[in-house]
Amino acid sequence: MKRLLIFDTTLRDGEQSPGYGMTSEQKLQLARQLEALGVDIIEAGFPAASPADAAGVQTIAREVRGATIATLARCTENDIEASAKSLEKAARSRIHLFLSTSDLHLEHKLGIDRQTALDRIARATKLACRYCDEVEFSPEDATRTDIDFLLACAQAAVDEGARVINLPDTVGYSTPPEYRALFESIRLRLSGVERVILSAHCHNDLGMAVANSLAAVEGGAEQVECTINGIGERAGNASLEEIVMALHVRAGLLPYETGVVTQLLYPTSQMLSALTGVGVQPNKAVVGRNAFAHEAGVHQHGIMKDRRTYEIMTPESVGAPPMRLVLGRHSGRHAVALRLADLGYTISGTVLNLVYDRFLRACESGKSLTDDDLVLLAQDNPPTSSKPPYELSLVQASAGTVRPATATVRITRDGETYVACALGDGPVDAVCTCIDSITGHPARVVGYDLRAISEGRDAEGEVSLRVVVDDRPFSGRAVGTDIVEASARAYLSAVNKCLATMGEGVKPPQVPAVALRAQKAPLGAQP
Ligand SMILES: [Zn+2]
Repeated sequence: MKRLLIFDTTLRDGEQSPGYGMTSEQKLQLARQLEALGVDIIEAGFPAASPADAAGVQTIAREVRGATIATLARCTENDIEASAKSLEKAARSRIHLFLSTSDLHLEHKLGIDRQTALDRIARATKLACRYCDEVEFSPEDATRTDIDFLLACAQAAVDEGARVINLPDTVGYSTPPEYRALFESIRLRLSGVERVILSAHCHNDLGMAVANSLAAVEGGAEQVECTINGIGERAGNASLEEIVMALHVRAGLLPYETGVVTQLLYPTSQMLSALTGVGVQPNKAVVGRNAFAHEAGVHQHGIMKDRRTYEIMTPESVGAPPMRLVLGRHSGRHAVALRLADLGYTISGTVLNLVYDRFLRACESGKSLTDDDLVLLAQDNPPTSSKPPYELSLVQASAGTVRPATATVRITRDGETYVACALGDGPVDAVCTCIDSITGHPARVVGYDLRAISEGRDAEGEVSLRVVVDDRPFSGRAVGTDIVEASARAYLSAVNKCLATMGEGVKPPQVPAVALRAQKAPLGAQP
């Protein structure tokens, strides 16, 4: 088996795309996870882009010792020096130089001719070699560059000491046979190629980034550049987990190994989502919520007999939670009985018929049931989780062009009912203020996402939010056609989680200043 190097650029190409910005602390946390995951090279940032970027790279270079730390730099003295400075403390360092080489980019982006480009590449490579363990050069937009000129650029870099030549499909334009042929041709024609690692870097504009990366490997690439969850500019980069698992599952066809611990793929994907607040699409290969879920009746029947019928890799192999049989209205009586048997409830005959009737009723609204829900059905209980401290019983808000928005919220706890009214900057702010004044635990909302989960103006909206209470983070989620009410439920659910972690010693609510605008009932009662 040949060893393939995994170059992760989640913190550079990924982080620079909209919505994925991270703080230095978050970047360090992810870099440590990437090190544990077993990637060979971590591209930690673009130091010349901003002082914050430079500081982020510096911290990672100092703290993360198990991988080569790479930085991106244009072919200028200033960029190379900024990179060199950030990498000073790295256990192993790499400066990743790039310069556009396609005529389109040379003319319209850089305004230089081909000879000037060649001179810049040579000069920059020579300088960068003085400052780090290895230099990588990327002719940007390689797949749209005239191949003879592309070869000349690569040769200029190699002659000055570059040890990695990356051929990026910057705009996601290539197809697998074409990209493979590019690598075969450069491998054949580049002099000194035996000392050089060829690398693939693919964007997913036509959904072919992973296929192109694998084609490059077959064409002689020994390094692939990729990101966790495939995040990156526009449609993203090639996804690390998909490349690694394709090599793993199809080892017979693709005899290459990586240093990646596959069982950490799912946890790493989850960490990135948690840090950035951007979830993974449910049907995402390898790490999506549905990647190992089976709902169709026939599929469930098959998978229960032998998992291999509809499963080419196990969830355990990527560290995902065990196979999820999503039981919904398409599930048969047989599937329900078998799942319950797995969960320790062996039922048959009339009892099974009764439970199955309840099951179908519970699915009527289109809902899917979890294992916990199923157990409750078998026990003849409605499927609900344990009772939260506070329960929302009424939300009324008014908003519009006449400000401010107002809201009334009624909440129960231990049989007592509490009501609060508040003004706010919009109805969501107003209902959250009401909830704060009742619970006495004001939460700061640090992330708020609203997503339609069906079509139409009457679509159900899913609100997911992240809050900080007493310096600790909690999340809440709720679904409804009334997005203000869903927001209130999501917010209260986060506050309930906070109270649950405080356990018995929940401090009595202290009415915060904002409650001056609120009125509580019953008067004087404290939950
Ligand atoms: Zn890129």
